[in-house]
Amino acid sequence: MLILVINCGSSSAKYQLFDVRKMSCVARGIVERIGSSRANLTYQSNGKKLHENVSCPDHYVAMNIIADALTHPENGVINSTGLIEGIGHRVVHGGEEFKESTKITPRVIKSIEKYCELAPLHNPPSLLGIKACSKIFKGTTQVAVFDTSFHQTMPPEAFLYGLPFRFYKKYGIRKYGFHGTSHRFVATQAAKVLKRSLNSLKLVTCHLGNGCSMAAVKNGISIDTTMGFTPLEGLLMGTRSGDLDPAVVFYLMNREKLSPNRISDILNKESGLLGLSGVSNDMRDILKAAKDSGDSGRRARTAIEMFIYRIEKYIGAYQAAMNGLDAVILTAGIGENNPWIIKRIEKDLKGVVSKRVKFIIVPTNEELLIARDTYNIIKRSK
Ligand code: ADP
Repeated sequence: MLILVINCGSSSAKYQLFDVRKMSCVARGIVERIGSSRANLTYQSNGKKLHENVSCPDHYVAMNIIADALTHPENGVINSTGLIEGIGHRVVHGGEEFKESTKITPRVIKSIEKYCELAPLHNPPSLLGIKACSKIFKGTTQVAVFDTSFHQTMPPEAFLYGLPFRFYKKYGIRKYGFHGTSHRFVATQAAKVLKRSLNSLKLVTCHLGNGCSMAAVKNGISIDTTMGFTPLEGLLMGTRSGDLDPAVVFYLMNREKLSPNRISDILNKESGLLGLSGVSNDMRDILKAAKDSGDSGRRARTAIEMFIYRIEKYIGAYQAAMNGLDAVILTAGIGENNPWIIKRIEKDLKGVVSKRVKFIIVPTNEELLIARDTYNIIKRSK
């Protein structure tokens, strides 16, 4: 069975076509710079990688470009889009309504529209992708897989903020958590690696990419996570500040005469590893800069130390929250490619955690999990 996985951002659309029975990806790629005059398509299959400049004014055209690439007479992998039996979409925000992946219906689309208010940068492009696919791949079952749904099992003491309760009731202000698909995927994989049942494990999963978050996964269920109402809370990230005293926001707004939009940009786009190091948001550049002997080297080293310190602090907190710990899992760009980080954390926490705690790297594959969820929903509805 062929399942197409779509991940739409504001100016890009990633895709992967899976043969779900073999659990293998048959083609993948990305349409980038949607809406600009310099859009381009990357297409990979059978070991070939092609780049092509395309005219792509919007997400509807992007979905058409993907359909054409997959059915291209020379480089394509299928003769007809009719062979695709399901389309799984990554959707960032499913609010409190979606506790698991779901078949897309007009009612589901309405709900995703409602949550655009909570994820104004992320949900709108997903909706464009969903609507385009329902026209282009007419009649094909579509499934939404939400970043928030895995964390919907958090208890109120973990997801509420210490604000007047009416703001939770009125605006849904609470911790939602993100990267849920990745945390769920690596927790399941870790159980396999550890040869244990997921239902009997206390895991801390750390997704360390451009955005970073951790989750306390007890018996397969997320009971706490570092990201909050938005992906700004928690760990130090590429360009996001992570945890911060909210009073700093008012102080800066006053002193620097900043608008709400401007302070939001500072916290989301100019802080974190980039803001502290002054070098880059990319860990590879910061590691290079850290070798310098001068002030810039010192700043880069401080940024790295702070990055690791917060991870270690949350591991301690989550060990307490779960009343125990079996394994710490690192994943995503930084987590998978820097084995020294996991070794360093293991060494630092030697005196704090039991000797039996395992520290392991598990590569994430959110697209595969989206494909699997889509397949299972189609199978169930047959
Ligand atoms: P995204 O959240 O955008 O999916 P990724 O998971 O690709 O991000 O992670 C991006 C981060 O991973 C960057 O900080 C980058 O420095 C880091 N990274 C990726 N590859 C490597 C590598 N080979 N060595 C060190 N760091 C890497």
